[in-house]
Amino acid sequence: MAQNDDLKALIRTIPDFPKPGIQFRDITTLLLDADGFATAIARMAAAVPGPIDLVAGIEARGFLFAAALAAPLRAGVLLIRKDGKLPGATIAEDYALEYGQDRIAIHADACAPGARVLLVDDLIATGGTARAAVRLLAKAGAELVQAQFLVDLPDLGGADALRADGVAVASLIA
Ligand code: 5GP
Repeated sequence: MAQNDDLKALIRTIPDFPKPGIQFRDITTLLLDADGFATAIARMAAAVPGPIDLVAGIEARGFLFAAALAAPLRAGVLLIRKDGKLPGATIAEDYALEYGQDRIAIHADACAPGARVLLVDDLIATGGTARAAVRLLAKAGAELVQAQFLVDLPDLGGADALRADGVAVASLIA
Protein backbone atom coordinates (compact mmCIF):
# COMPACT_ATOMS: atom_id res chain seq x y z
CA MET A 1 0.00 0.00 0.00
CA ALA A 2 1.46 3.37 -1.01
CA GLN A 3 1.95 6.08 1.59
CA ASN A 4 -1.38 7.62 2.68
CA ASP A 5 -3.46 5.17 0.60
CA ASP A 6 -5.14 4.29 3.91
CA LEU A 7 -6.38 7.91 4.11
CA LYS A 8 -7.21 8.11 0.41
CA ALA A 9 -9.56 5.15 0.88
CA LEU A 10 -11.58 7.23 3.37
CA ILE A 11 -12.34 9.95 0.79
CA ARG A 12 -15.23 9.38 -1.59
CA THR A 13 -15.96 10.91 -4.97
CA ILE A 14 -19.39 12.40 -5.62
CA PRO A 15 -20.03 12.86 -9.35
CA ASP A 16 -21.71 15.99 -10.71
CA PHE A 17 -21.39 18.10 -7.53
CA PRO A 18 -21.83 21.05 -7.32
CA LYS A 19 -22.28 21.10 -11.10
CA PRO A 20 -22.54 18.50 -13.86
CA GLY A 21 -19.11 17.20 -14.86
CA ILE A 22 -17.38 17.98 -11.54
CA GLN A 23 -16.04 15.05 -9.51
CA PHE A 24 -16.21 16.33 -5.93
CA ARG A 25 -13.74 14.76 -3.50
CA ASP A 26 -15.79 14.42 -0.33
CA ILE A 27 -13.67 14.41 2.83
CA THR A 28 -16.63 14.20 5.27
CA THR A 29 -16.17 10.42 5.27
CA LEU A 30 -12.57 10.83 6.49
CA LEU A 31 -13.77 13.24 9.20
CA LEU A 32 -16.27 10.63 10.40
CA ASP A 33 -13.51 8.06 10.87
CA ALA A 34 -11.91 8.52 14.29
CA ASP A 35 -8.61 6.82 13.42
CA GLY A 36 -8.50 8.33 9.95
CA PHE A 37 -8.89 11.90 11.14
CA ALA A 38 -6.37 11.48 13.97
CA THR A 39 -3.88 9.88 11.55
CA ALA A 40 -4.34 12.66 8.99
CA ILE A 41 -3.72 15.35 11.61
CA ALA A 42 -0.66 13.56 12.99
CA ARG A 43 0.87 13.20 9.49
CA MET A 44 0.11 16.81 8.57
CA ALA A 45 1.66 18.03 11.85
CA ALA A 46 4.76 15.90 11.20
CA ALA A 47 5.23 17.56 7.79
CA VAL A 48 5.45 21.09 9.23
CA PRO A 49 9.08 22.20 8.90
CA GLY A 50 9.49 24.43 11.95
CA PRO A 51 7.89 26.37 14.76
CA ILE A 52 4.56 28.03 13.97
CA ASP A 53 2.79 30.92 15.69
CA LEU A 54 -0.52 30.69 13.83
CA VAL A 55 -2.34 28.11 11.72
CA ALA A 56 -4.47 29.96 9.17
CA GLY A 57 -7.49 27.94 8.01
CA ILE A 58 -9.62 28.75 4.97
CA GLU A 59 -13.43 28.71 5.45
CA ALA A 60 -15.01 26.27 5.95
CA ARG A 61 -13.39 22.82 5.84
CA GLY A 62 -9.95 24.39 6.32
CA PHE A 63 -11.09 25.48 9.80
CA LEU A 64 -11.38 21.84 10.91
CA PHE A 65 -7.81 21.02 9.93
CA ALA A 66 -6.40 24.32 11.20
CA ALA A 67 -7.98 23.90 14.62
CA ALA A 68 -6.92 20.28 14.98
CA LEU A 69 -3.34 21.09 13.89
CA ALA A 70 -3.03 24.14 16.11
CA ALA A 71 -3.27 22.13 19.33
CA PRO A 72 -0.28 19.78 18.76
CA LEU A 73 1.71 22.61 17.14
CA ARG A 74 0.94 24.84 20.14
CA ALA A 75 -0.15 27.59 17.73
CA GLY A 76 -3.13 29.91 17.53
CA VAL A 77 -5.86 29.64 14.90
CA LEU A 78 -6.31 32.42 12.33
CA LEU A 79 -9.64 32.37 10.48
CA ILE A 80 -9.62 33.26 6.79
CA ARG A 81 -13.31 33.91 6.13
CA LYS A 82 -15.57 34.80 3.26
CA ASP A 83 -15.84 38.60 3.26
CA GLY A 84 -18.56 40.08 5.46
CA LYS A 85 -18.47 37.44 8.21
CA LEU A 86 -15.87 38.88 10.60
CA PRO A 87 -17.09 41.45 13.14
CA GLY A 88 -13.97 43.61 13.47
CA ALA A 89 -11.95 45.69 11.02
CA THR A 90 -10.64 43.49 8.22
CA ILE A 91 -8.19 43.34 5.35
CA ALA A 92 -9.45 41.50 2.27
CA GLU A 93 -8.30 40.00 -0.99
CA ASP A 94 -10.25 39.31 -4.18
CA TYR A 95 -9.82 36.26 -6.37
CA ALA A 96 -11.29 35.07 -9.62
CA LEU A 97 -13.80 32.23 -9.83
CA GLU A 98 -14.78 30.39 -13.00
CA TYR A 99 -17.66 32.86 -13.27
CA GLY A 100 -17.21 36.10 -11.32
CA GLN A 101 -15.08 36.72 -8.26
CA ASP A 102 -14.98 36.17 -4.54
CA ARG A 103 -13.33 37.86 -1.57
CA ILE A 104 -11.72 36.49 1.59
CA ALA A 105 -10.80 38.45 4.70
CA ILE A 106 -8.99 38.32 8.03
CA HIS A 107 -9.20 40.59 11.03
CA ALA A 108 -6.71 43.42 10.47
CA ASP A 109 -5.11 42.81 13.89
CA ALA A 110 -5.14 38.98 13.73
CA CYS A 111 -1.58 38.48 12.53
CA ALA A 112 1.40 40.39 13.90
CA PRO A 113 4.03 41.29 11.28
CA GLY A 114 6.64 38.52 11.19
CA ALA A 115 4.33 35.90 12.71
CA ARG A 116 5.21 32.41 11.44
CA VAL A 117 2.09 31.11 9.74
CA LEU A 118 1.05 27.70 8.42
CA LEU A 119 -1.74 27.99 5.81
CA VAL A 120 -4.14 25.02 5.74
CA ASP A 121 -7.09 23.90 3.65
CA ASP A 122 -8.72 20.56 2.99
CA LEU A 123 -7.98 20.59 -0.74
CA ILE A 124 -6.18 22.56 -3.43
CA ALA A 125 -7.55 22.48 -6.97
CA THR A 126 -6.80 25.46 -9.25
CA GLY A 127 -5.10 27.23 -6.34
CA GLY A 128 -7.18 30.39 -6.73
CA THR A 129 -8.36 30.33 -3.12
CA ALA A 130 -4.99 29.43 -1.60
CA ARG A 131 -3.10 32.00 -3.69
CA ALA A 132 -5.50 34.72 -2.54
CA ALA A 133 -4.92 33.58 1.05
CA VAL A 134 -1.15 33.83 0.48
CA ARG A 135 -1.52 37.40 -0.83
CA LEU A 136 -3.71 38.27 2.16
CA LEU A 137 -1.19 36.89 4.64
CA ALA A 138 1.59 38.78 2.84
CA LYS A 139 -0.42 42.01 3.22
CA ALA A 140 -0.59 41.31 6.95
CA GLY A 141 3.20 40.90 7.07
CA ALA A 142 3.10 37.20 7.95
CA GLU A 143 6.06 34.90 7.39
CA LEU A 144 4.42 32.04 5.52
CA VAL A 145 6.25 28.87 6.57
CA GLN A 146 4.23 26.38 4.48
CA ALA A 147 0.89 25.82 2.79
CA GLN A 148 -0.53 22.40 3.55
CA PHE A 149 -3.52 20.50 2.15
CA LEU A 150 -5.00 17.12 2.90
CA VAL A 151 -5.68 16.64 -0.84
CA ASP A 152 -3.97 18.03 -3.94
CA LEU A 153 -5.61 17.69 -7.36
CA PRO A 154 -2.35 17.94 -9.34
CA ASP A 155 -3.99 18.03 -12.78
CA LEU A 156 -5.50 21.41 -11.87
CA GLY A 157 -2.07 22.92 -11.21
CA GLY A 158 -2.77 24.83 -8.00
CA ALA A 159 0.13 23.43 -5.98
CA ASP A 160 2.57 24.10 -8.84
CA ALA A 161 1.30 27.68 -9.14
CA LEU A 162 1.80 28.20 -5.40
CA ARG A 163 5.33 26.81 -5.64
CA ALA A 164 6.00 29.18 -8.55
CA ASP A 165 4.92 31.97 -6.18
CA GLY A 166 7.73 30.81 -3.87
CA VAL A 167 5.53 29.00 -1.32
CA ALA A 168 6.56 25.71 0.32
CA VAL A 169 3.66 23.32 -0.38
CA ALA A 170 2.84 19.94 1.16
CA SER A 171 -0.09 17.56 0.84
CA LEU A 172 -0.83 14.02 2.00
CA ILE A 173 -2.98 12.75 -0.87
CA ALA A 174 -2.91 13.35 -4.63
P1 5GP B 1 -9.32 26.15 -5.80
O1 5GP B 1 -9.45 27.58 -5.36
O2 5GP B 1 -7.95 25.58 -5.50
O3 5GP B 1 -9.75 25.90 -7.21
O4 5GP B 1 -10.38 25.30 -4.95
C1 5GP B 1 -10.07 24.92 -3.63
C2 5GP B 1 -11.13 25.37 -2.68
O5 5GP B 1 -12.40 24.87 -3.08
C3 5GP B 1 -10.88 24.83 -1.29
O6 5GP B 1 -11.31 25.76 -0.30
C4 5GP B 1 -11.70 23.54 -1.24
O7 5GP B 1 -12.28 23.35 0.04
C5 5GP B 1 -12.78 23.75 -2.31
N1 5GP B 1 -12.88 22.61 -3.23
C6 5GP B 1 -12.81 22.64 -4.58
N2 5GP B 1 -12.98 21.42 -5.12
C7 5GP B 1 -13.16 20.58 -4.06
C8 5GP B 1 -13.37 19.15 -3.96
O8 5GP B 1 -13.44 18.37 -4.94
N3 5GP B 1 -13.49 18.66 -2.70
C9 5GP B 1 -13.40 19.44 -1.60
N4 5GP B 1 -13.51 18.84 -0.39
N5 5GP B 1 -13.21 20.78 -1.67
C10 5GP B 1 -13.08 21.33 -2.88
